[in-house]
Amino acid sequence: MPFHQTPPTLGNQYEDDRVLRSYLKRTLPPEMLQEIEPPLRELGALAGGELYRMQLADRLNEPVLTQWDAWGNRIDHIELTPLWRRAERIAAEYGLVATAYERRHGSFSRVHQCALAYLFTPSTDIYSCPLAMTDGAAHTLLSSGNDALINRAVPHLTTRDAAELWTSGQWMTELTGGSDVGLSETVARRGAEGVWRLYGRKWFTSATTSQMALTLARPEGGEAGGRGLALFYIEMRDEEGRLRNIQINRLKDKLGTRKVPTAELTLEGTPAYLVKGETDGIRNIAPMLNITRLWNGISAVSLMRRSLALALDYARRRVAFGAPLIEKPLHMDTLAGLQAEAEAAFHLAFYVAELVGRGETGEIDDEESVMLRLLTPVMKLTTAKQAVHVASEVLEAFGGAGYVEDTGLPMLLRDSQVLPIWEGTTNVLSLDALRALGADALAFQVLKTKVSRWLEAAAHDERLAAAGRICLSALDHAGSWLARAKQDGQSAVEAGARRFALRLGRAAELALLIKHARWSLEKEGDQRAAAAVSRFASSGIDLPDTQDTDNARILLADYLLDEVTST
Ligand SMILES: Cc1cc2nc3c(=O)[nH]c(=O)nc-3n(C[C@H](O)[C@H](O)[C@H](O)COP(=O)(O)OP(=O)(O)OC[C@H]3O[C@@H](n4cnc5c(N)ncnc54)[C@H](O)[C@@H]3O)c2cc1C
Repeated sequence: MPFHQTPPTLGNQYEDDRVLRSYLKRTLPPEMLQEIEPPLRELGALAGGELYRMQLADRLNEPVLTQWDAWGNRIDHIELTPLWRRAERIAAEYGLVATAYERRHGSFSRVHQCALAYLFTPSTDIYSCPLAMTDGAAHTLLSSGNDALINRAVPHLTTRDAAELWTSGQWMTELTGGSDVGLSETVARRGAEGVWRLYGRKWFTSATTSQMALTLARPEGGEAGGRGLALFYIEMRDEEGRLRNIQINRLKDKLGTRKVPTAELTLEGTPAYLVKGETDGIRNIAPMLNITRLWNGISAVSLMRRSLALALDYARRRVAFGAPLIEKPLHMDTLAGLQAEAEAAFHLAFYVAELVGRGETGEIDDEESVMLRLLTPVMKLTTAKQAVHVASEVLEAFGGAGYVEDTGLPMLLRDSQVLPIWEGTTNVLSLDALRALGADALAFQVLKTKVSRWLEAAAHDERLAAAGRICLSALDHAGSWLARAKQDGQSAVEAGARRFALRLGRAAELALLIKHARWSLEKEGDQRAAAAVSRFASSGIDLPDTQDTDNARILLADYLLDEVTST
């Protein structure tokens, strides 16, 4: 019989996920877990079954923008793909956004919601993007105190009724920049009866099929820079379904996230409402970014999980040199390293979800608030980088098949690659993490104290204790680097910010993994989390902190604007 290679398959993505199930068991009250497990199991079956099959079949479909109708009218209609239309309904029915606002389980509702998002995301081709912004918009409006907008929009953003559900866009990036948003050129002119009109171009607007958006614009005559921008609420279409003075110029031709209709827009007098004052728009949109960054982290860990679920299944099916790949010591070693990476990332992303939940219910204490502010950028940037690394390795673990489009595998890498770019790039978030440290690097001390407490509880197990020492030493080195760099000046601090933030992220991941492993050893008699600890601890927690601003200037001298090159 000729050789026939069986492709990888997926089972129930809830039942098969030891890491998720063990974490939920440790974290949630037993009666809550009992109540939420049936829908999680259902979603796990959908994600590994019908939705996964649909995702493979829908691979070549992409959103289509039609700018003109047959009679010459400008319509700018975007037709979504069948997978996304299905995803839209499932998201409403399973309460992918609603769960966090119904708060049936108090602060744990955020963890519940993130567990749903984690199962849903890898099978729905980044439908998590509009959901993240919808969640962020609800959170932002609720914290704005603007009752008129809250009453108008929040019930739609948080409903379980697919017919009533609105999604929201988040339009910040302009041609002038997505990082330095203070350069934005969109102007707001005040009209009659408090209605403002916006004029300008938005350069990246995902989820352009949304019913509403939160956006930034500068009220005419307002001061330059970020402070002069205001946060505005707009509704995209009027009662007849016509866009309100918005032109969709084109959809972006992107490396990945191909199902997401990311557009370039021109606002030509779009009616808009102030959300909160005529200034400080960047500060006022910050609650949205905190939520979308949480979603980014959950997406990162869910895509790592999906990549590994496929690679591990395939390794049992693919035979080389006389044995299935999973039995080959080096292949096993490669996959084990990736599994440890994904487990560590999982615990940091879900820890931030716990803190967000406690923040929303007012249960958060001062230490935790400081941790939430610091770990939000740190978690986002660390998990995003890990997702790209894991997806790239997983494609290689499939050999040539990983590079071939109709296996559906290359999409894992392309979709992961957006995670370090949107919602703040790695560098921009590293600088934000420095700001989050506060006066005298208080947040860093709080993190060290928290980590030490988690590690103390695991000190009786030598394997976990050894990993704990690696974690503390990484934090000590990070602290001494920061003190030295501050003496050298602002450039030195900025230059090392990415290494500093990644070191914090990896150390926090290790500490949380140790905390979970101790519980899992004691309560489940399971060695696997402890094995992940040992593996992750030896995978670059204490990154080198070379202080080489001078070297960087020499290396890049040909390109520096103020350099006279001496050869
Ligand atoms: C698929 C996709 C969808 C998107 N959807 C949206 C959306 O819906 N809404 C929206 O508002 N935006 C969206 N964006 C835009 C995204 O948020 C921006 O691309 C991102 O914030 C970076 O901005 P930029 O592209 O202008 O890059 P720039 O800001 O020009 O940055 C270029 C590089 O410079 C680095 N850099 C910038 N400043 C510093 C500094 N001070 N120190 C060190 N390094 C620095 C950055 O890290 C980056 O590597 C989307 C982007 C993509 C790819």
